Amino acid sequence: MITCFDIGGTTIKAALAVEPGSLRPIGRVATPRDDFALFAASISQLIDEGGAPAGAPVAISVTGVVDPETGITTVANIPCIDGRALSADLGALLGRQVLVANDADCFALAEAHAGAGQGHRVVFGAILGTGVGGGLVADGKLFRGAGGLSGEWGHGTIVATTTRAAPHNLPHFACGCGLSGCLDTVGGARGLERLHRHLQGTDLASTAVIEAWGNGDNAAAATVDLYVELVAGPLALVVNVIGPDIIPVGGGLGNSAPLIARLDEAVRAGILRRVDRPLVVPAQLTVDAGLIGAASLGFSEGVV
Ligand SMILES: [Zn+2]
Repeated sequence: MITCFDIGGTTIKAALAVEPGSLRPIGRVATPRDDFALFAASISQLIDEGGAPAGAPVAISVTGVVDPETGITTVANIPCIDGRALSADLGALLGRQVLVANDADCFALAEAHAGAGQGHRVVFGAILGTGVGGGLVADGKLFRGAGGLSGEWGHGTIVATTTRAAPHNLPHFACGCGLSGCLDTVGGARGLERLHRHLQGTDLASTAVIEAWGNGDNAAAATVDLYVELVAGPLALVVNVIGPDIIPVGGGLGNSAPLIARLDEAVRAGILRRVDRPLVVPAQLTVDAGLIGAASLGFSEGVV
């Protein structure tokens, strides 16, 4: 039995997992952002409400980076846990083992254990949400790279951008990570909107661009063509480097099956391996992936 948390900048969600894939919702509270004692008390209260026995472990999905060597969590939008050894500090207060992982990593774990990645040995969970992220699960376990930053295929300049996209004069947009020209600036939902604005000079929500594309609109089709070209290259490189059996795609853009099918086609045309089935597929767990992933983290690391 493990108490699972999905901790975001505004809300903490909790559930009790009696066994893998079986979640019993506990509830949700607003995230205390500035007071660690209050933060810990909120977690403790949710554990009590869930009824986990004394000593039962806790697993947390958090919107931040967890350094596997130091345990230090970097969470920009929750100052009271930013720069803190969350697992150790919370574990000492609660008297329980506390596991913590990044939310994209938990998404990958959830898909590997209970979603589109079931039955596959190497699962790369890709997020095409507001921005671009990802996580790697091999043989059922989360791969934690140095500094906790593995799976971050959205960052690092896409060298080909200026040449491949030259007819579009696509600039190297500044990225939130401090670099410029990152896939993250064009590969998420905001990126799709940015591409559409750049090509067409009009502001349109990503969902509207995709809807217009589905209705045969030529302008939207041009945007989607460029989007697929820009995202497929880096994703094909990920496939060649780590060799995933399946790539479930989550985040808002993962909800568009036609877009993911286009991406799959382009990725499979750009990799060394010949695969005659879809490799890039929509994620199956659109609700509670964070909680399911946290539960999968606990069960896969054998703390239960
Ligand atoms: Zn970046």
